[in-house]
Amino acid sequence: MKPSLIIHGGAWDIPDSAVPACKSGCERALTAGWGILQAGGSALDAIEAAVVILEDDPVFDAGYGSHLNLDGRVECDAIVMDGATLRAGAVATLQHVRNPVRLARKVLENCPHMMLVAEGAERFAHEQGIKLCAPEDLITDAEREAWSKCKIDKHAAAFHRGHEQGTVGAVALDRDGRLFAATSTGGTCCKLPGRVGDSPLIGCGCYADSEAGAVSCTGYGEAIMKIVMAKTAADFLRSAPEVPDTHSAMAAARQAVQVLARRTHATGGLILLDRQGNPGWAFNTPRMAFGYVQTDGAIFTAV
Ligand code: ASP
Repeated sequence: MKPSLIIHGGAWDIPDSAVPACKSGCERALTAGWGILQAGGSALDAIEAAVVILEDDPVFDAGYGSHLNLDGRVECDAIVMDGATLRAGAVATLQHVRNPVRLARKVLENCPHMMLVAEGAERFAHEQGIKLCAPEDLITDAEREAWSKCKIDKHAAAFHRGHEQGTVGAVALDRDGRLFAATSTGGTCCKLPGRVGDSPLIGCGCYADSEAGAVSCTGYGEAIMKIVMAKTAADFLRSAPEVPDTHSAMAAARQAVQVLARRTHATGGLILLDRQGNPGWAFNTPRMAFGYVQTDGAIFTAV
């Protein structure tokens, strides 16, 4: 099988000033994931490596630099899904984990359950040898500043220009035909403590089925959940021609975002690979940060 990799860093009104940082974050994530795939490594290792880089980059809303909830704390959600087994590992409302995708992988591989939240998830992290961090270690000055403005004058979009959203995700197919997807997020700014959006929910923010394709979503979580957007996109892929191509992959991505717009009037975006590794993407926001590795091995990024 020819390996394939696509990633995203969120769909929203990304200002010009944030474009170079978003692009360079996407490039670094693709380089890391592609290095693994090219060396014959697994799609799971590739998506984990790519998402860790995006989580560590404060320009994105995942891991370090995530938006703060109403209490002024970071609460992260993440998921990893295996297209062969349909098994997922998901975690939510983490406050002490630097790289939520790593914990999601541990749940996928070492846990009898598919989703753990809050203290239980963090206890599992500790048992699995993942070092817990102080909540402050995840907070950037920019996010604390936006949050303090929101506290004074209610949450207002104007305070969030430049860092409104920015969930991250990756989808990879490896030489052995294994297909994995991952999504990681800090959720929405000033969310109520305990709020969980679409991102870590199987079928909503992420889905992988080797018979159809794999998907990672971004956008307004409460709307994405309504249309189970990742599974909706996978179902469009399922009904693609017997030999799917770039055209059918792009069409499936567009159709899913059209359903989001038509049925919820909300905004968002997604990336996907069909079962052959053809990439597709779509968004109805002004911009989405994303990138993929082209068939000749060249890295393409766009914002
Ligand atoms: N979907 C994420 C959430 O609602 C936010 C985003 O993608 O930017 O938590």
